[in-house]
Amino acid sequence: MKQCVTREFRAKLTDEQKILCWKTFGNKRFTWNHLLDQYIQYGKANNWEVKYNNYASLLAANPFLKESDSTALNNVAEELYKACKLLFPQGRTPNFKQKGKDRRSYTSNCINNNIRFEEGVGGLNYLIMPKLKRVRIIKHRDIPADGKIKRATIKETAGGNFYIAVVFEIETEEPNYKDAPTGFMEALDYSMPKLFVSYFGTFDVTPEDLRWYYDIEEKLAKEQRKLNRMKPGSKNYYEQLHVIGKLHEHAANRRKDFLHKLSRKMADYYDVIVVETLDLQEMGKRGVREDGKFYCYGKRISDNAFGMFCRFLAYKLRDQNNKLRDQNKYLVKTPKTFASTQLCSNCGYKNAAAKDVSVRKWTCPICGEHHDRDKNSCNNLLKEGRNIINRWTSGDSSFELTPDGVLSEKKPHSKIKRR
Ligand SMILES: [Zn+2]
Repeated sequence: MKQCVTREFRAKLTDEQKILCWKTFGNKRFTWNHLLDQYIQYGKANNWEVKYNNYASLLAANPFLKESDSTALNNVAEELYKACKLLFPQGRTPNFKQKGKDRRSYTSNCINNNIRFEEGVGGLNYLIMPKLKRVRIIKHRDIPADGKIKRATIKETAGGNFYIAVVFEIETEEPNYKDAPTGFMEALDYSMPKLFVSYFGTFDVTPEDLRWYYDIEEKLAKEQRKLNRMKPGSKNYYEQLHVIGKLHEHAANRRKDFLHKLSRKMADYYDVIVVETLDLQEMGKRGVREDGKFYCYGKRISDNAFGMFCRFLAYKLRDQNNKLRDQNKYLVKTPKTFASTQLCSNCGYKNAAAKDVSVRKWTCPICGEHHDRDKNSCNNLLKEGRNIINRWTSGDSSFELTPDGVLSEKKPHSKIKRR
């Protein structure tokens, strides 16, 4: 079975390399915008038919594009083609990219070994990249032994640091799904501002764990106020933007570090972890208020954080990134329709009144059981998780193990509306 794994390295670019990167970011945007314009012109004239546009058609009139890696621009053309294919039938068009607002990254494909690792004198490590040539990297992790490099994405963060994510293709053994995992289970329910509430509570997040985030928020607010007093477009203004970008990056790194450490502990401890499938819109609503209090930063802490945490958990439970052995541990996602907070974990009665987040405690009108909102919902998740695993291992094809290592309900194929 072929599988892809990614390794990300910090890159130390020379000034010339940086300039080349910036040019490529610009050329990427140029390619996207010009090709998109062609798609729209052609679409208007031909009943929104999508005909593949090669970026090579731009080369003759714009020779500066040759300075950038051709596969990077080709990838943009591919991406745009896919976007048009998807959106034109829906009566929509992809957006034009704006300078300063688009993603500062590009992806080069590996062709004929043109992306490879190289060791220099004094134990320095390099990655050979098309056009950039030798890029110094900090190789703090091992690379997969028999991994074949497929592509590499170089990106610049808001704080001005460069990273290269290298994707390797490796051969893995087909996992053995026959044995039902019987080990230790835990259920997590998304919650504010502590990320989640759990059934056993062994690894629950404390406010002290999140202190650092509030500290950074305070600093950010201060620097933001400074920015507001500056003249937009002035030199100071841009310097201040950089300061703010650095702080944001620092916050993001700390959050990632925190989530990685927590998910590692939990993946080592538990065999199965059950979470609910989140409705992002619903999340936004719940994120702002809980316990009748208003958390202004709470939403930001868990903005994507719970989703990211689940991703970390899933691959750590499967242990795909490290030893590539099937350790028979799973992250189970309950179906979207499963109302974990409304069901009575004792008798299964559905109490619609418990949907409102202000209802912290309730009593089941049927069996008379007293419920704490969080514990009850975790209990339901645990039961449903066990149910899903049993159905899956006994051959129920409505569940699948995704490549990300999540055991969940099969998604129906999305139907695209015709224009
Ligand atoms: Zn009941």
